[in-house]
Amino acid sequence: HCETGNSNSYKFFNQKMESELSSRIQMESLLRGALKRDELSLHYQPFVCTQSKNVVGAEVLIRWHNPTLGQVSPTEFIEIAEHSGQIIELGYFVLRSALKQLAYWRELYNQDFYLAINMSPIQLKDSYLVDKIVNLLELYKIPGHLLEIELTENALIHDTVCAQDVLSKLNQHGIRLSLDDFGTGYSSLSYLQHYPFNSVKIDRSFIRNLDTSEQSRQLVSTIIAMANNLQLSLVAEGVENQFQADFVATQGANIWQGYYLGKPVDADDFAQQYLITSITSQD
Ligand code: C2E
Ligand code: MG
Ligand code: MG
Ligand code: MG
Repeated sequence: HCETGNSNSYKFFNQKMESELSSRIQMESLLRGALKRDELSLHYQPFVCTQSKNVVGAEVLIRWHNPTLGQVSPTEFIEIAEHSGQIIELGYFVLRSALKQLAYWRELYNQDFYLAINMSPIQLKDSYLVDKIVNLLELYKIPGHLLEIELTENALIHDTVCAQDVLSKLNQHGIRLSLDDFGTGYSSLSYLQHYPFNSVKIDRSFIRNLDTSEQSRQLVSTIIAMANNLQLSLVAEGVENQFQADFVATQGANIWQGYYLGKPVDADDFAQQYLITSITSQD
C-alpha cells in the first residue's frame, strides 16, 4: 500500500515537473522569436507628484502577447529571459524603444518628464551597458536626468563590485537610480549605503495593508522618514485607494504610483490621458 502511494506521488511529481519544464522550454523558444514577430510592446504607468498632483514621469513596463500563450506576465518571462541570456537583447529593446518614445513626446509636449526603466542584474554585467545607454541618450538628445533606472535589491547581491562601478558611471552621466521593491530584499539599508541611489520605491506589499494594519502604517512612515532624512525621493508603489494616497502623502512621500492614479497603458493612451500638447489649437 505504502509503495503504491509512493510511486504514485513520485510519478505525479515527475509529471508535474515535466509539464512545468516543457512549458518553460516552450516559453523560452517562443520568446526567442518574439522581438522579430513584433509581439513585445511597452506600457507606461504615471508617476504623480504628491505636492503638485502633476504627472511627472512614468515607469516603463514590458508586455508580451503571443498568439499561442496569450498575454504573458513579465514576472514570468523576464526570469526565463535572464536564464537564457535573452534579457540583454530584451533589455536593449526596452531602452531603445522607451527613449525613442520619450524623444517623440519631448518634441510634441513641452513637459520635462522622465521615464523609469526596470533593469535586470544580468544587464549590469554587460560591459557595453553604459555605452549603449549613453549613445541612446545622445541619439535622442535626452538629458541623463530624464532617465531613471530601477533595480531591485537582489539585482545587487550577486556581483557587488561590478555593480558599484556600473552604477557610479551611470550616475556620473546624470542618470538617476532607484531602489525598487524596497523592504522586500535582504539588505535594503546596506544597499542605500553602498550604491548611489537617488530614489526608493516602497514595495506595494507594505502599501496594500495600510488600511488594516497599524504595523504597516508604522513601517511605511518609518521608511518615508528615513528616505526624507537621506534626501532620497520616495515613491509609494501600488497605491490603490484614497486612504493609501492620503496616508503616504501626509507622511512625506514624493511620488504616488498605482492603480488609483492610473494603470499601465500603451503610449497612445498615455499621451492622451496625461500629456498636454504645447500647440494650443484655436478654433
Ligand atoms: P515592478 O518593477 O515592481 O513594477 C510594478 C508592478 O506592479 C507592475 O506589474 C505594475 O503593473 C504593477 N502595479 C502598479 N500599480 C499597481 C497597483 O496599484 N496594484 C497592483 N496590484 N499592481 C500594480 P507588471 O507590469 O506585471 O510587472 C511586473 C514586474 O516585471 C515588474 O515589477 C518588474 O520587476 C518586471 N518588469 C516589467 N517590465 C520590465 C522590463 O522592461 N525589464 C525588466 N528587467 N523587468 C521588467
Ligand atoms: Mg519597477
Ligand atoms: Mg516595484
Ligand atoms: Mg514589484
